[in-house]
Amino acid sequence: MWPLLFGAWLVAIAPPARPTVPNPPIQRPPDSLRVPILVYHNVQPASEARGIRAPDLTMRPEVFATQMKYLKDRGIPVVSLASLVDALEGKRTLPPGAVVLTFDDGRVNQYERAFPILKQYGFTATFFPFTHAMDRNRRYFTWAQLKEMQAAGMTIGSHTSLHVRVDRMKDSAQMRAEVSGTRQVLIERLGPAAGQLFAYPFGALAPAGDSAVRAAGYRAGRAYTGGPWNSLATRWRLRSFPATEDMKRFVSIVDPGAAASAPVRRPPAQ
Ligand SMILES: [Zn+2]
Repeated sequence: MWPLLFGAWLVAIAPPARPTVPNPPIQRPPDSLRVPILVYHNVQPASEARGIRAPDLTMRPEVFATQMKYLKDRGIPVVSLASLVDALEGKRTLPPGAVVLTFDDGRVNQYERAFPILKQYGFTATFFPFTHAMDRNRRYFTWAQLKEMQAAGMTIGSHTSLHVRVDRMKDSAQMRAEVSGTRQVLIERLGPAAGQLFAYPFGALAPAGDSAVRAAGYRAGRAYTGGPWNSLATRWRLRSFPATEDMKRFVSIVDPGAAASAPVRRPPAQ
């Protein structure tokens, strides 16, 4: 008993860590599943990322490859976001330790740099482009690329049309156009599987956004932070982790049992 109490006391007085983005919460809420959803943005060499300062908005391809290799080497199952929603609904069980991979904004570097690595490892992921950029801006996916990725086992979802915050939409007509309208466009172009999932631009949440996502016919909406636990109560704002190059943090999210003991390879030097 005493060593236990002493350990707890030590933990209590240890200085708090100061991550740049939130770490996993310690307590397990009731009726929920621990299936971390990682959110990637740009996957690009440092030379292309000039001006992007936020650690969660760009990752070098070699670090992304290191993270995917870690999942493969450790046998960590990568499951689709839709199968996590199935599991939250009680329709299926997921393998222990499963994780979900998602990509926001539809940047073409995801197609060029991340998609080949996902294929190499046989991993599935969900991509959330904002539809207005498709075929208009060469820094973003084309519809043909989205179709190719979908045919290779990836899922496509909505991130609105113009990448607007749902908490700042000026009226319900804009909300409908951005949330429901993009779902129709995705379904017309890519089929019904592309009408299941929504990701909130900037992770901005609002009750009206939840209602719009639900009313539009999506199965779930993904938020941008919040940790590894989800339940039916969070299905319209699923919690997730912004992915960063920090391998120690990555391991603590995807492989918490190993985080305390295993040596962690540093990402390659810049
Ligand atoms: Zn975004």
